[in-house]
Amino acid sequence: MIEYLCSMLKNKQDIRLLNADELKTQVLAMGEAAYRSKQLDEWIWTRRAVSFEEMSNLPRAFRQKLNEQFSFSPVVIDLEQKSIDGTVKVRFLLPGHLKVEGVLIPAKDRVTACISSQVGCSLSCRFCATGQMGLNRQLTVAEIFDQVWLLQEKAKEYFDTPLSNIVFMGMGEPLLNFSNVLTAIEKIHLEKGLNIGMKRITLSTSGLVKGILKLAAMKVKFKLALSLHASTDEVRNRLMPINESNPIEEVMQALETFYKETGNRVSFEYILLKGINDTDMDARRLAVLAKRLPAKINLISYNPVEGLTYQKPDEGKIDRFMHVLVEQGAAVTLRQSRGGDIDAACGQLANK
Ligand code: SAH
Ligand code: SF4
Repeated sequence: MIEYLCSMLKNKQDIRLLNADELKTQVLAMGEAAYRSKQLDEWIWTRRAVSFEEMSNLPRAFRQKLNEQFSFSPVVIDLEQKSIDGTVKVRFLLPGHLKVEGVLIPAKDRVTACISSQVGCSLSCRFCATGQMGLNRQLTVAEIFDQVWLLQEKAKEYFDTPLSNIVFMGMGEPLLNFSNVLTAIEKIHLEKGLNIGMKRITLSTSGLVKGILKLAAMKVKFKLALSLHASTDEVRNRLMPINESNPIEEVMQALETFYKETGNRVSFEYILLKGINDTDMDARRLAVLAKRLPAKINLISYNPVEGLTYQKPDEGKIDRFMHVLVEQGAAVTLRQSRGGDIDAACGQLANK
């Protein structure tokens, strides 16, 4: 933190805010050969160097010059909590005393990292803790990358294994921080670095038509999850204000385009809320939607959020909902809530 404040005072620029072209321009302007920018780039994105000192294959004089002009503002973990079910929640400290959260979810054969894309969220979904905070700011490429890097270290420390999956299901709407999230995914995927396969990355969205179509046109290789949570516009409008400008039918068509262009299966997230979206009719309508694509439905039980009155349906009702979906030929799994005792479950991330 002190280092960060010093660099602010000296007006140094965070080097990790530069893209590859900008980095090259800067390196050339400093009178160095172009291949030095490649070396720098590698130090930054495959080894997560956070000082120039450690860049041992760069000449000392060059490192000093870099140090005079540029700085690093690495994310650090300032709090860790382990749930009785093994889930680990960490709090990431960002420059300016901002905080976001990430979660490690161990299962039999894998460890999933749940990361954030924004500080807060502007979309105000009624059931979501992050939605109650509003948006503070976008996360930078390096801040998204750092979360994965640090959770990878934690996965090794706690579970003795590297990360198997990454999900953008922490704070924020990833499609509203589009270019940073996509660039961060590229960095996370670098073979010489974190080397996380594209099929092991899932971006979860509240359903922004424009963003989904952009992903389709780019023929991205990672997976997409839609937070659907209702089978009619009337109910979805009430739960998710974003549905008013992105109604279900338009989102469905965008997802069909996404599937056509990328060949990637989509998953639908559906939080069961007592008395709101849990009838047999809801299950039937949901099945009809899911069957338009090769899609899997993840039924999520609602995680209570302080100050909100939603409840999850009782077990019988949840079983019945599952049963109707299966009967209708939809692919469905019930996602157990994890980390409830430490507020690490999805939608509970709000910087308590
Ligand atoms: N903004 C994106 C990604 C972050 S939210 C999105 O909405 O998809 C990640 C997931 O947590 C979403 O499926 C979201 O609907 C779900 N979620 C939010 N609040 C929740 C709660 N209280 N209980 C269970 N899931 C919740
Ligand atoms: Fe934002 Fe997703 Fe929460 Fe909605 S559910 S408020 S889009 S983080």
